[in-house]
Amino acid sequence: LKMKYNEEQAKRRRLHNQVEDAKGNIRVFCRCRPLSKAESSSGCSTVVDFDAASNGELGILNSSSVKKTFRFDRVFTPIDNQVDVFAQASPLVTSVLDGYNVCIFAYGQTGTGKTFTMEGTEGNRGVNYQTLEELFKIAKERNDTFTYDISVSVLEVYNEQIRDLLTTSSSSSTSKKLEIKQAAEGLHSIPGLVEAKVENIQEVWNVLQAGSSARAVGSNNVNEHSSRSHCMLCIIVRAKNLLNGECTKSKLWLVDLAGSERLAKTDAQGERLKEAQNINRSLSALGDVVSALANKSSHIPYRNSKLTHLLQDSLGGDSKTLMFVQISPSEHDLSETLSSLNFATRVRGVELGPARKQI
Ligand code: ADP
Repeated sequence: LKMKYNEEQAKRRRLHNQVEDAKGNIRVFCRCRPLSKAESSSGCSTVVDFDAASNGELGILNSSSVKKTFRFDRVFTPIDNQVDVFAQASPLVTSVLDGYNVCIFAYGQTGTGKTFTMEGTEGNRGVNYQTLEELFKIAKERNDTFTYDISVSVLEVYNEQIRDLLTTSSSSSTSKKLEIKQAAEGLHSIPGLVEAKVENIQEVWNVLQAGSSARAVGSNNVNEHSSRSHCMLCIIVRAKNLLNGECTKSKLWLVDLAGSERLAKTDAQGERLKEAQNINRSLSALGDVVSALANKSSHIPYRNSKLTHLLQDSLGGDSKTLMFVQISPSEHDLSETLSSLNFATRVRGVELGPARKQI
């Protein structure tokens, strides 16, 4: 009986692995924020149906109550917390310690929780901080076999220009405490990008703080500025296997993208129009790259934007990619929500059939 049980278990494991392989290296998780206090008190209704969320399905009801169903690798409802979310992302994140390049990005309309998911808040740390915490924990567990050097770069892309936030902040007192060096090999098109070596979570915190205060410099309205720029954290892991001397270098990009909302065409002029065009260009370039990868296309158009150019060696090949599509539950955001979910569906390379009627 025991033998039969073991055989059965082995068969299940094989099946599970086949399913995992078939999914490839691209995952899309959808996360819906709660209704805000203002939305609840104004009697705003929600358009999201989470009945099949545990199967990765999300229903969106239009004004005539017709339901359109979307399917993702995971669906997080407003009651899922930061720990629940990280628990699903952590295997991917920690594969950077095994030498894989990984890219995680949050996509969606401004105000849907991209920064909440990636950065989090004081008592509710997001993916960035939890990732580094986990990397240090695993590195320590493996310290009889491996040595790991972990460093961090923080940059932003605004109007197709790259700004190194650790250079900008290097005169501030926080960053003086960091051991900062110029990246010898350079990362793609940005030779000399500053890397801060981090040895514990307090140092990470200092780097992240230095990066966010530099982001605020030179902008009149920090919130507006951050919704129009891509904030990028790059974690570089250099590993040495103490048993065979083998060395590897891998990268993990954690990206809080600019807001995906369509600006009313008539409103945007001058600087705003230029910003909107650059955001559209980089987000659609990112969508084109990931969907070309998901569809195993022979040409991957990395060169169409700074964003995709920077991420080039962390998207495709052996690299693993995770996209969070962030949405609002509110009826007022319905058209932006549908547009984000359609984008994410295209990225995932799997389309569902036509909309089904709600029963
Ligand atoms: P974005 O970065 O997409 O513009 P934010 O991360 O700033 O959006 O989120 C907008 C607001 O909603 C913030 O006040 C944030 O704390 C809150 N929020 C977003 N997602 C959640 C969530 N899952 N749970 C609780 N509050 C959230």
